[in-house]
Formats: sequence, C-alpha cells, structure tokens
Amino acid sequence: MSESELVSADVLRARSRDLEALSVPGNLFTLHEGTMRCSACAHRCVLDEGSGGACKIRIRRGDELRVPFGYVARRYVRPVETNTLYHVRPGASALTFGMYGCDLRCPYCHNFKVSQALRDPVAGGPVQVVTAEALVDDAVRAGCGVVCAAYNEPMLTAEWAHAVFSRARARGLVTALVTDGHSTPEAVEFMRPVTDVFRVDLKGFTEAQYRSLGGRLQPVMDSIALAKELGYWVEVVTLVVPGFNDDARGLRFLCDAIRAVDPAIPWHLNAFQPRYRMADRPAMGSGALFQYASSAYARGLSFVYVGNVTSDTFSTTRCPACHTSVVERHDWQAVKVNVVDGCCPACGFRLPGLW
Ligand code: SF4
Repeated sequence: MSESELVSADVLRARSRDLEALSVPGNLFTLHEGTMRCSACAHRCVLDEGSGGACKIRIRRGDELRVPFGYVARRYVRPVETNTLYHVRPGASALTFGMYGCDLRCPYCHNFKVSQALRDPVAGGPVQVVTAEALVDDAVRAGCGVVCAAYNEPMLTAEWAHAVFSRARARGLVTALVTDGHSTPEAVEFMRPVTDVFRVDLKGFTEAQYRSLGGRLQPVMDSIALAKELGYWVEVVTLVVPGFNDDARGLRFLCDAIRAVDPAIPWHLNAFQPRYRMADRPAMGSGALFQYASSAYARGLSFVYVGNVTSDTFSTTRCPACHTSVVERHDWQAVKVNVVDGCCPACGFRLPGLW
C-alpha cells in the first residue's frame, strides 16, 4: 500500500468508527447456528464479527447487527418533484433526508458524497445528530406534504427510515422511499406498513450492466413487481447514460418490463449529467430521450417523462383518456395543477397517483 492509500484507509476506518457510535440493534437479518446474514439488500452479506458487509455500514457485534440510526448526512426541503416524483402531491414541499452508504457503486452517482462515504475518502462530510421526532417536526413546521428517504440507499438504513416514516405518517405526511430497488422481499415488506411510495431507479437492462455497478438486475425487477403488489405507489426512473444504457432496444426491454407490471407506472427518462467518475463524458442529448419517450408511449405506457432537459411536452401529465393537461411542470416544479379529487377535470378519469 502506498502512503496515500494508507491515509485513505485510516480516514475510512475513522469514519466508520464515528458512525458506529450512531447505531442501534437492527432487525433485518437472520442468525442461524452462528451465521449472521443481513437481509436489507440483495447482497445478503454474511457478516463476521466487526464486519460491515458490502455497504460497510451494518456491522455485526456478537449476535447483534448494529445499524445506522439518529443522524442525517443530508437534508433539504424542496419541491417533491425534485425527487423525480410526479404523481405524488404535485406542488407539495418534501423534506428529503439521507444517511451514509450504498450497496452499489455507480460511477456517475449524483450523491456520491453520501452514498460512497464509507468507500471513498474524497466523499463524506459532517453529519447532523437528530431524532426521528425532531426531523418530522421540522417537516411539519416547513409545511411539507411529503417526507422522502433518499440520497444514499435508504433500505440499508431501513430501521431509521421506518422510525421517521411511522412518525411522519402519524402527522398526515406521505412517505416515500427513493431507492435503487436492489432489495429483498423482507426489506420491501418491512417498510410497507409505514411507506406510501416506492420511487425506484432502474439503471440498466442487462445483468452485465448491473454487475458493473456492483449489483444484479433481477432483484430490482422483483422489487418493482413486489412493491406494486403490496400497494406502494411506484414510479420508475432510468438515468440514460451515453455509452452505458442509451440503447434503444434495451430501453424498449425496460419499457415492456414496466408495462408488464402495470402500464400506469410512470417512467422517467432522465438525462445523464457529467459527474463523479464520469465527469469527462458529454451530457445525454435531449433528442434521443424524446424518441425513447415517444416509443414508450407507443408501446403502451400511460405516463412517460423526460428529466434534466427542458421539455414542456415530456414534463406535463396528461389525462390518458382525453389528453387534457392536468399537471404542468417547469424546472422540477409543478406550475399548474388541474386535478380534482384525483380525477381529470374534463372527463372525470381517475388519475393514478397520490394526489
Ligand atoms: S445492507 Fe446489503 S450490503 Fe449492507 S450488509 Fe446488508 S446485505 Fe450487505
């Protein structure tokens, strides 16, 4: 190891030690004849004493699994649409919070400072110690209609999200997971009683693509289907990255897979922006995205959106029955909401979503 690698390893070890002080016993794991297996994500890591699994944040101590609790590494109050959520209380403010850690290692991550904080010494930053009650109090005081767990992978910190969401629900707020979907049935089921929304990234269409990000495609597909079956409101986002997943045939495959679960699931095609380890790539152009979105409509999806580029056409929600514009958006904000009791004001069609 070089000197700089040793310093980096020391930085990460110190970060991990500091965070373990902000942990509690978790419950998403099994213990059988001394073998502990975490079930918070699809890696299903076997954990040895002191080991933190692939995410490095859920740590075995004896027969306990210590999990992150009682802090946030990032929090903002912003329009709910900034979480790429278009059918959930449009125009509402959302308090969105995140912790540290991720099960994947996407080289284009928008939130690498929190998601990769336990792997990459250039990531990280201060955390804020907070109780679930105080976080929800802040959301209510700020007039939020929604609380979102996002930025890092919230299923890795499901016990904390569960504590926040149960209190948020009791105060009348909609609760939303913004997840990579690389999850387990246990975690998806664990969160359902306190969670309304499963906003999931579908990052690629082959196992090879997912392997390059550190995960697998099939658990993501399974989580989307299960979330729908359990009654979550589901929206799917695909960040289209040039040279990685901008293949028309592959995107048609994703479109058909979503349609097979439910054609009313909104699908967001967001344009890649140069970031993190892919800062030298060009941004995704809008023309191709418009074509992919048009093709997805033609193949039977009811709601397809394009994000990170300017488009009135593909940021507006239209009634699938009569094509009346029901929500208009600009720059990740709803500027006109024309939904009456969850229905189209022109023809009365019940619009899928949480209005
Ligand atoms: S959350 Fe996933 S990566 Fe982390 S320890 Fe559990 S199974 Fe492993």
